[in-house]
Amino acid sequence: MIFPDAMLGMLGGGQLGRMFTLAAHSMGYRVTVLDPDPLSPAGAIADVHLKAAYQDREALQQLADTCIAITTEFENVPADSLNWLASHCTVRPGGDAVAVAQDRIREKAFFRACNLDVAPYAVIECDSDAAQAPANLFPGILKRARFGYDGKGQARVANADEARKAFKEMGAESCVLEQRIALKCEISAVVARGADGAGRSFPVSENRHRMGILDVSIVPARVAPELAKQAEDWALRIADKLNYCGVLAVEFFVTETGALMVNEMAPRPHNSGHYTIDACVTSQFEQQVRTLCGLPLGDTKLLSPVVMVNLLGEAWQQGAPQWDRVLNLPDAKLHLYGKHEAREGRKMGHYTVLDHSAEAALQKAMITRAALYPDWHD
Ligand code: ATP
Ligand code: MG
Repeated sequence: MIFPDAMLGMLGGGQLGRMFTLAAHSMGYRVTVLDPDPLSPAGAIADVHLKAAYQDREALQQLADTCIAITTEFENVPADSLNWLASHCTVRPGGDAVAVAQDRIREKAFFRACNLDVAPYAVIECDSDAAQAPANLFPGILKRARFGYDGKGQARVANADEARKAFKEMGAESCVLEQRIALKCEISAVVARGADGAGRSFPVSENRHRMGILDVSIVPARVAPELAKQAEDWALRIADKLNYCGVLAVEFFVTETGALMVNEMAPRPHNSGHYTIDACVTSQFEQQVRTLCGLPLGDTKLLSPVVMVNLLGEAWQQGAPQWDRVLNLPDAKLHLYGKHEAREGRKMGHYTVLDHSAEAALQKAMITRAALYPDWHD
């Protein structure tokens, strides 16, 4: 076990790295963040901020020399950098698991190999793949295999011609074409798995998206308990088969007929798990510290129903948001990430509302959300 006040390394300085750093600090650890952005949210609070590229050999060497264990907060960190670091110190999760999550083609094949259901899809590597795509995949969604997030690198396509066009417009890079599923809702499971193979899931979250970006998470998810259990089991099975060490998030579709399909995974804590900070015995970020340091997993029990709402750059459209709308609620918690520029679609922060039921929390959270996003009408 790695005990405080050891120095831990974090590749990536975004909000996930920041919340990891906060959790690590409160347990007495120190953190070095690698991120080229001098204003990065995690760099701003880290003990050491290395401002260099993720492939910068000198910076990686310094991380390896000064940190006892290293983790990451985003899946597009070069797997090569993780593998190089792993030859010098403990790296969790490993580069191999991250590489699977970086590529939708490998990821979907992996889910299938785990015997889990996914939306029907085809791999599109060239124009003729798009031209000959099976008719049952339409209407569909073409997704770039790599470097997509928050709905970016995706196009809705009604037929093979549109798929060809979208494939070309997206740079003719490898894609998957997925059948568009009629959704009852979306849920996610954040799980943790220790180096000893012990696994534990946080309560499943019900997720609502707006413009391809997570908007609201509701916990407990309003689905049958058996379905929530199935999602937890599937996520733990994925972690097992990957021989994963760390925190892993798995997103699911619940179809109109009530069936579960795996959408994608993220080899890190997840936006839909932010509720754990305020509503669980252990947060997903403390769990990340625990798995990184070889400590036993913390209890994931939910202490209260909770709703999380994302604060995107749009909320700044008419100047600083009316924070009193959140702060006046005694059972709400505000989290801001310290980002300097509020751009549309940029995740600037979130808030949670706790109440005796998810419905009650949702009602309060949505009234506040309407005040914070005066231009949204939905
Ligand atoms: P993020 O990184 O924010 O999770 P992403 O860019 O990786 O997003 P996906 O999770 O694949 O993209 O898709 C974003 C959202 O688009 C999904 O949460 C879902 O709402 C919708 N979506 C994606 N694929 C499908 C599908 N096959 N059928 C129906 N809806 C879909
Ligand atoms: Mg997603």
